[in-house]
Amino acid sequence: METEGIPRSFCRGIHVTYVIARSMVLYTPGRTSTHPEAPVESGIRLHFLGGGDEVGNVGCVLEDRTGTRILIDYGLAPTRPPRYPSECPPVDHAIITHSHIDHIGMAPWLVGHHGVTLHGSTLTSAVSEMMWRDTYKVSSIEGYPLPWDHRDLDGALDAWQIHEIGEWFEIGAWKFRFHRAGHIPGAVMVEIETPELRLLWGGDMDTRDSPNVLGAEPVNCDILCIESTYGGREHPNRAEEEARLVARVKEVVSRGGLALIPAFASGRCQDILRILHKAAPHLEVHFDGMGTRITQHWMDNPEHIREPEGLEQVWRWARRVRSKSDRKKALDADVIVTTSGMLDGGPAIWYLNRLRHDSANAVLLTGYQAEGSGGRSLLEKGSLPIFGNLTPIDLEIDQFQLSNHAGHSELFNFVRACEPRHVVFFHGDAEARAAIAAEFQQSPTPSLPVNGTPLELK
Ligand SMILES: [Zn+2]
Repeated sequence: METEGIPRSFCRGIHVTYVIARSMVLYTPGRTSTHPEAPVESGIRLHFLGGGDEVGNVGCVLEDRTGTRILIDYGLAPTRPPRYPSECPPVDHAIITHSHIDHIGMAPWLVGHHGVTLHGSTLTSAVSEMMWRDTYKVSSIEGYPLPWDHRDLDGALDAWQIHEIGEWFEIGAWKFRFHRAGHIPGAVMVEIETPELRLLWGGDMDTRDSPNVLGAEPVNCDILCIESTYGGREHPNRAEEEARLVARVKEVVSRGGLALIPAFASGRCQDILRILHKAAPHLEVHFDGMGTRITQHWMDNPEHIREPEGLEQVWRWARRVRSKSDRKKALDADVIVTTSGMLDGGPAIWYLNRLRHDSANAVLLTGYQAEGSGGRSLLEKGSLPIFGNLTPIDLEIDQFQLSNHAGHSELFNFVRACEPRHVVFFHGDAEARAAIAAEFQQSPTPSLPVNGTPLELK
């Protein structure tokens, strides 16, 4: 997810503060799996280990009577404390839709415990190492237990089997093909052809074009499994929201201020840079944080990027912060784009601590600010923790909706266009799932899965 609309972020960098609950349940092999042992009689069985009736934290086992059994995604939710999906039963293959931590975070555990082969796009595999190392580092720094270790991580790096978008491949009795999901570059939807039916797993998706990736296109299927993060909610017009951001930045700069733009590392940072480069190339924009390293992987995998030459121009145009002295120089820029997107730490906090004394400066938030995050505190109380001290911020604060998840209308139109018999709405809170499911009565038949309760569809 990357998340805006979403109660947890996925790319907050290494500075997230986790509080460990004593009651946190860790994996106890053989005890925490809720997976049913009975064989499947017909159709397909979906069993959500996580992400069924919640946003993020995704893991779902799919199987049929041929004995073919796969897992799709295995994430963790970097909440306080972190949440994990239930323990996965033995599988040999897992498909990873994209590299956000709530979809990929627990994959090293799968490899360490079940010797799983991970299937994904080139870009997802390229970015995975950074995401896992970052997760590992955060767990060490913050002291929360992680169910996998360094050895599992190294194993996971060797466990990838890469597939191009559109290329068919086989696992057991099933055939698979990836389609562009439109959520972030490298994110895929998964088309699965079993002997009995065709299923499309939408993953995190958006049908709207965004600066770095084109939108997802419908695929005809019998069963559609789709996120419902934004069920019941419409996004503002994307072009208008981008224009509003640019206008706000220009206004801040013209009064002699600096616009600090905290943004998620995987997707949002790069979108902001492309928006600014296109509309206001005269600005001096500095780029700091984990997003810079992720962008490097994007540049190495241009087949997943919309107009990759545009990204290359942005790469040359934005001034990348590589050292402490670069960071000091950035304080004289017009704009700084950096992590963490929810002001939970990272370079954004370092900058804010220095910029907060000049009221010409502004903080422009570019995503959802989760409950308990620094950004939420800033919006609601005008203060946030800086290096442990609750600090009032007397600057202009604004927020922009630039989500890369489908809104209600996009979900509705996508479901209709895929013409499924059944539609499974997962990855959403109760209200969102009910709102989108209410649009469908009988054709297709909606299902609202619950973690730990198998769902069989024909
Ligand atoms: Zn995502």
